[in-house]
Amino acid sequence: MTSSGLGVRTNDLKEEVIVDPTTGEKSVKVGDINFPARKVWMKTFGCQMNYHDSERILSHLKDLNFTHTEDLNNADLVLFNTCAIRDLSNNKFYSQLGEIKHAKKKKNSLVVGVGGCVAQTEGKELVKKYEHLDFAFGTDVIDTINDMVYRVYAGDNKFTINSWDRSENFSIETKINHGTPQAFVNIIKGCNKYCSYCIVPYTRGKERSRLKSEVVDDVRKLVEYQGVQEVTLLGQNVNSYGKENNESLAELITDLDQINGLELIRYTTSHPYDVSDELIQVHGESKKLSKHLHLPVQSGSNTVLERMLREYTMEHYLGLLDKLRKAQPEIVLSTDIIVGFVNETQEEFEATLDLLDKAQFDSIYSYAYSMRNKTRASKMVDHLSDEVRGERLRHLQKYQLGIQEKIRQGLVGQEFRVLVDGTSNMGGVKKWKGRTNCNRVVHFLPTNEEQNLLWNWVDVRVISATALSCQGELLHTLGRKLQ
Ligand code: SF4
Repeated sequence: MTSSGLGVRTNDLKEEVIVDPTTGEKSVKVGDINFPARKVWMKTFGCQMNYHDSERILSHLKDLNFTHTEDLNNADLVLFNTCAIRDLSNNKFYSQLGEIKHAKKKKNSLVVGVGGCVAQTEGKELVKKYEHLDFAFGTDVIDTINDMVYRVYAGDNKFTINSWDRSENFSIETKINHGTPQAFVNIIKGCNKYCSYCIVPYTRGKERSRLKSEVVDDVRKLVEYQGVQEVTLLGQNVNSYGKENNESLAELITDLDQINGLELIRYTTSHPYDVSDELIQVHGESKKLSKHLHLPVQSGSNTVLERMLREYTMEHYLGLLDKLRKAQPEIVLSTDIIVGFVNETQEEFEATLDLLDKAQFDSIYSYAYSMRNKTRASKMVDHLSDEVRGERLRHLQKYQLGIQEKIRQGLVGQEFRVLVDGTSNMGGVKKWKGRTNCNRVVHFLPTNEEQNLLWNWVDVRVISATALSCQGELLHTLGRKLQ
């Protein structure tokens, strides 16, 4: 047995790269096991944190000679990175996991693993229930993915690893292999808030921040060696960043602002309770911080916020928006809203509509409340029907679209600098698209069809806008670097 039992290989086993002199094929030898070139297929559900984790997992697996495939039929290893927050992704995951058993019947050697939030809380049950599932792993052990995969190829399977990392500091290095100028950088993990509807503190554990010096060094390397120009600082509650080390998000952004070659800093996700005056000031002063802030409010009713255990009032929230708009007049704000929280009354719902009028959000993500096991809200007796929830959600979304339409009309004629990140098909016409500093997507035509604008900075003028999209015209192409 060559693993420690926790899915961690004994230290003496190192990857050794072997290249066949006649075929030129590369294989990786670990202990007695040979890893020829293999393919991994991966399905990710949920938030940006999960997508970031998946990128990290794929990056680790390269060391075991795995390359990513989009085609399930070519896969030797199938991984799911799961989300426990919403029913929809949960259901999709269970149905896809069920389906994989047919793929395993066809290819006996197929290895199947499940990671992420569902695996953190239900990993053991999953491994027991799904015969074709080889292993499950929680959110805090993704950096040992190669140890787990090794363990399966060493002949051990049907195991679950969902332990918490107990080391003193949360210390990691960002791993990217997509070759684009945008990178997610994890700065804090876990959450100490325990909002009554949320499963995250149970699936991601307590808050732990990376040291500011480590993050700055990490970003500097990404900029210098990997051509990164835009970073998104990630965490469940980034506003809480650094508390245990007497550091803060405001200080981190101020330091990152000094990095030559870094053009844009975004961060997500925020909790209104922890937005400090110092951070608001940085929104006014920083040269590189995005002029967009996503600040989840969840409800416009103080009584609902109290039941949600959100720790702020509507007055406090609107006060923050005021301060942010004073510090940075160009700031664009968006939010998350949960409609139909436990026993939400019509009056409480209308308070949220009222908030939409007052806040003038540029966009919202809205969801009907759905109960998650293990949360405090799951213990509340709920009398609200799903029909009412659905009706309120539709009403709220329509109401917000009216507000958005007016805001977006005001953009016509304005000029924006965007980093082009892909193309879109708009009614059969191929257009390029990019995100403004304030996080609005603008679609535009190239000056000629052969022009490849991917990852170029361009200036565009908005020529028309609806509630959901902006169409622009290309003014200047500035190339892949601004300096
Ligand atoms: S702040 Fe609340 S909603 Fe956000 S992750 Fe923490 S517990 Fe969940």
